[in-house]
This record gives sequence, structure tokens and C-alpha cells, in this order.
Amino acid sequence: NIRTEIIAVGSELLLGQIVNSNAQFLSQQLAELGMNVYYHTVVGDNPTRLEQAIDVAKKRSNIIIFTGGLGPTKDDLTKETISNALGKKLVFDQEALDSIENYFVQSKRIMSENNKKQALVLEGSYILKNDFGMAPGMALEADQTIYMLLPGPPSEMKPMFKNYGREYFQKQLGFQEKIISRVVRYFGIGESQLETDIQDIIDEQVNPTVAPLAGDGEVTLRLTAKHVDELVANQLLNELEQKINQRVGEFFYGYEQTTLPLELKKLLIEKQKTISAAESLTGGMFSEQITALDGVSQFFKGSIVSYSNQMKAQILKVSPQTLQEYGAVSEQCAKEMADQIRKLSNSDIGISFTGVAGPEPHEGQPVGTVFIGISMQNRETQVYSFHFVGTRKGIRVRTVKYGCHYLVK
Ligand code: ATP
Ligand code: MG
Repeated sequence: NIRTEIIAVGSELLLGQIVNSNAQFLSQQLAELGMNVYYHTVVGDNPTRLEQAIDVAKKRSNIIIFTGGLGPTKDDLTKETISNALGKKLVFDQEALDSIENYFVQSKRIMSENNKKQALVLEGSYILKNDFGMAPGMALEADQTIYMLLPGPPSEMKPMFKNYGREYFQKQLGFQEKIISRVVRYFGIGESQLETDIQDIIDEQVNPTVAPLAGDGEVTLRLTAKHVDELVANQLLNELEQKINQRVGEFFYGYEQTTLPLELKKLLIEKQKTISAAESLTGGMFSEQITALDGVSQFFKGSIVSYSNQMKAQILKVSPQTLQEYGAVSEQCAKEMADQIRKLSNSDIGISFTGVAGPEPHEGQPVGTVFIGISMQNRETQVYSFHFVGTRKGIRVRTVKYGCHYLVK
């Protein structure tokens, strides 16, 4: 059972000159590590009172983390006081001594005995390197209690704890941080739009983090959380996902490696609905993507690839008047195609695709003009229209995705 206490040493804290932000930082870090923090203590630069604080702390806590008072001046007495309290000698750490000496040689200054004092460490302790200052930190186990000493300046303490302190506890306490991630998929929103919508969330996240990935007209977010407790890590991911989906949830369609056709399959099986397709522009691509999945005979009845107007009129029975008046690339034609395939195949849903994939315009309609019809019984047939930009292949691929998208929505 881990009971952690933080003791911040410094009269300036008691005088109200500075805020005890070190305790706040450490508490956040320790919570991430799954270590319970039960007390924050603040004590001045006074050896008697510090010793009393240590006495109290070691009765109720088994991990005690100190910040402050590792420096060279007279009032920096954390190490000396702990040394007395635990009956552990202070010895020079050669590496720290070398780097202090080196610093003074480099800067052509004279090193005083006080400066040397910063290289003193509790005998037998594990050294935490100070990459941004001279006084090293340290950790020591004595009487079933771990003592960790960290410097006062946040610019030194924070990186020391992040880079070395955390690792020390992970090893010492025998726990491993678990990293879990979740891929969340969106369709129907551009990458830059989605990023703009959640930029502040992306920026503020430290744990969990959000990383956007884009490709194939879809936007994917990878959410990653770190925590020793997998349940907590999952909870962090749930909270973040909720926060994101409050803004862009209407475009969400699934997790991990799923695809729009796969989500469509799941939905139609669940709802026990059947579907058929009338494909012009897509030439069977929708049907191919559906039938690439196993088990689709439960809901997929088939399709007609009615590429020519003749096929549309003779097989699908799109009215010649529609074809003449509006053309094959029209809302009216998409509607009739969807209605007709649904009726002809006796399906619950009919979907149609018609448009101009390019490279040349068709019937006076520009490249990228697309209509998708969705026909269901007892509901007015919906037609969605688009003006896509892109290659012939890109336009056709996106058309199929949008078809699936509207069906799963
Ligand atoms: P130094 O070598 O700078 O003397 P030190 O380890 O002896 O480092 P202190 O002398 O206790 O640390 O504090 C140095 C400075 O660090 C303080 O003046 C203050 O700005 C900052 N500091 C110390 N303790 C805290 C704290 N608990 N929270 C935030 N800042 C702190
Ligand atoms: Mg100091």
C-alpha cells in the first residue's frame, strides 16, 4: 500500500512569496503513476522543524518526497537534516563533483567550499541527474521508507522527476505504466476542418494525447493514454473521446481498423434489412466492396450496373422522359434508379450512384458532379448531390464512401 507525502522546504513558501507549485506538479505526476498522495507539508528552512516534519511523515507515509534546499547556501539544509534524522552519512558523488568543478573551470570562476557541498549525497542513495543545474537529486530506502530529494527550482525539479524520478519509482515499486491507444474514425469532414474544430483540445492534451492522421478522404484520430492502471487509462480515453465527439460526433463512424462498408454490414445485419444497388458512375465498386466482406448474403441482394442510358431505361425502367429532360446525371435520375432497384429486387433499401467521373464533362455536367439516391419503403427517397474535385478514381472511391456514410448515419 503506497502512502506518499510531499514535503516542500522553503521559508519563502511560508511567507507567501511563492506558490507551492512543485507539490502540485509532483501530485499530478504521482497520480499518473498510480501512487496515492495523502499529505502535502510545507516547512521553512529550519532544521528543527524539518526534523519534526520528517518524524511525523515517516509514521504515516512510506514514500516521502522533498523539494528545495539542495543548493549551496547556508539555508539549504535538507540533506543535512535528513542525514541526521536517518543516521546516514553524506558523501561526495564523484560525477556531480566533476561536473561542478568543470563548470567553474569553464566559466573561469573560483569554486568555493559551499559549491562543493552541492555534490554531497546521502550514502548509498540512487542519484537522480540534474540536467539543468548543479545539485543532483537522490533517492534512498531506509526503514521500509523511500526518501526522494529533489531541488527547489521548478526548471530543475520537473525534468529531473520526469526523466529519472518516475523511472526510479517504476522500477522500485515494480509497476509498469501501461500505454493504450484507440483509433477513432471520422468521415464526411475534412482533415483541416476537424483539426480546427478540436485544435484547443489537441494543444492542451498531455495525457492522453491526440494525433490526427488522414488518408483516403477519412480522418482518423489516435488517442493515447498512459497509466499504471489500465482501467484508469481507458477512462482517460473515454473522457477525451467524449469531449471530442461533443464537437465532431456527427462524423464519427467507428474504431480501429473498421471501414465504412464493414459498419454498413454490421448495421444491416443488426436491423435485418436488405439492400440492392443501381450503379452507373461507380460501375459495381459499391457491390464489390460489400461482397468483399464475408456473410453479406444475409442482406445484400445484388446490383445492376446500368452504365448506359439504354440499360437505365430498359432494365431499371428509369422513365425515358427523365433521361431526356434531366439527363442521367441528375437528382431525378438518381431517385428513380434507387426506387427502381429497390422494387425490382424486393429489397428494404435501394441505393443508386450516378455522376461524372471525368476526365471529360458529360451531358453538360462538370466533372465531379455526383448524385447518390437512397430509397426506402415508407420514406421519401433522399438524393445527395456533390461537386467533388479530384481524379476519376478519387471521385468514384469517394462516391462509394459517401454512399456507405449516408446508409450508416
Ligand atoms: P538552489 O540551488 O537554487 O538554491 P534549492 O534546491 O536549494 O536550489 P531552494 O533554495 O529551496 O532550492 O529554492 C530555490 C528556488 O526554487 C526558490 O527561490 C523558488 O523560486 C523555487 N522553489 C523552491 N521550492 C519551490 C516550490 N515548492 N514550488 C515552487 N517553486 C519553488
Ligand atoms: Mg537554495
